Amino acid sequence: MNESEKQKRADARKKRKRRQMFIGRMIIVLLLVIILGLCAFLGKDMLEKKKLRDNREQAATSAESESTADTAGTESAAETETQAQKKEDDIMSQAELKAAQYDYDGAIELLKASSDFADSQDMQDKVAEYEQAKSELVEYPLDQVTHVFYHTLIYDTSKAFDGDSKEAGYNQVMTTIDEFNKITQSMYDKGYVMVSLHDMCTVNEDGTVSPGKIMLPPGKKAFVLSQDDVSYYHYMDGDGMATKLIVDENGDIKNEYKEDDGSISVGDYDMVPLIDRFVEEHPDFSYHGHKGIIALTGYNGILGYRTDIAYKTRKDLDEYQEKFFEENPDFDKAAWKKERQQAKKVADAMKEEGWEFASHTWGHINVGEASLERLQTDTQKWLDYVKPLVGDTNVIIFAFGSDLGDWQPYTSDNEKFAYLKSMGFDIYCNVDSTQYWVQFGENYMRQGRRNLDGYRMYYNPEMLEDLFNAGEVFDKARPTPVPEM
Ligand SMILES: [Zn+2]
Repeated sequence: MNESEKQKRADARKKRKRRQMFIGRMIIVLLLVIILGLCAFLGKDMLEKKKLRDNREQAATSAESESTADTAGTESAAETETQAQKKEDDIMSQAELKAAQYDYDGAIELLKASSDFADSQDMQDKVAEYEQAKSELVEYPLDQVTHVFYHTLIYDTSKAFDGDSKEAGYNQVMTTIDEFNKITQSMYDKGYVMVSLHDMCTVNEDGTVSPGKIMLPPGKKAFVLSQDDVSYYHYMDGDGMATKLIVDENGDIKNEYKEDDGSISVGDYDMVPLIDRFVEEHPDFSYHGHKGIIALTGYNGILGYRTDIAYKTRKDLDEYQEKFFEENPDFDKAAWKKERQQAKKVADAMKEEGWEFASHTWGHINVGEASLERLQTDTQKWLDYVKPLVGDTNVIIFAFGSDLGDWQPYTSDNEKFAYLKSMGFDIYCNVDSTQYWVQFGENYMRQGRRNLDGYRMYYNPEMLEDLFNAGEVFDKARPTPVPEM
């Protein structure tokens, strides 16, 4: 072989090798394409099979129910009719509840949206009835909306009025469950209907506040209900009051109460569940399903849960908190987190039931006396540790019945007002013993609240006559005279 021939053969070998490598690569690419395609196809096939299987299962279930009906022969048609009737009755009873709570528009809308509406004479008759009832409503004057409030109710009077150092305070500013139930019944009998502060006003996008519109039958009277300090503070332990709010297995809001032997009872031991039960019996006590507003501080947690940051850091504890940790040495960060989850769960369930929340300041501070800086630090704490649990609120209910100024309108040069407004507060409540006190400013609404407690019932029964007869309500278990303030 000469050199050139050698070269040629080498070239040919190289060419062959390159061709083989090219074919090899092509085969690999081809295989990959085939595998991918197969996967996609199989995947789709499996999905389709699953869908088919689901459909078959569904069909089987309905066939089963149909065949059950079939065996009943002629009853099958009746059964279908019964089911349709049941659905119609369901919508009609929902509409009836809305109508009972004066939400005729909501009731009418619900009926008209039903697929049965066109064929249901009953539904059409109801709509006509609700239209008629709605036309008879009158606008309730906002400046005559009274606002009543309570503190935590006393369940066991023998423990609250046991002669200890706290007895006088409880006797003055608290109300017993027996009194509360009598007052509620009396107010209902007199035609009072519970409205929300948010029925009384609307906050516009530019921050201005406009009067709302409350439409009630003639003779009915609107009122706002609030409760302060629903924290179940440590200092109340053993004094005959509920220890927390919970959601029970039926989704109802209830209280826990600690018995003498340490066992826990569950029941309606405070305002929230008592009002829930009352509205179940008397839906027309609630306007559009609205209930009261709960004014919360933060320093001992909320609703009976130890949710404040201090229970995580164990810093800046007061004497009651020190004692709490002595009694609960295992209360760690995980326990704190759980408390917060549970508190949020209760707050969510309450909102679902028509309850609202307000700030009562984090530290129960007197906003009239506090410096602007103190108000700012305190407000920030409320927003950081309470708001995440109860959600947004634009209502502040001042502790100690304090206020940002006197009865004259807030002005923009009131620094505390300007600050709170900038932090999202539009509705401000103080304590005022007159029957009604409502003030609309350009960018706020203010309302005075009346304390329905031992002090007021004992010293000023005549101031409560529009609501109830204090002589009949006043609990005989109270030591008298109620101490003077
Ligand atoms: Zn308070």
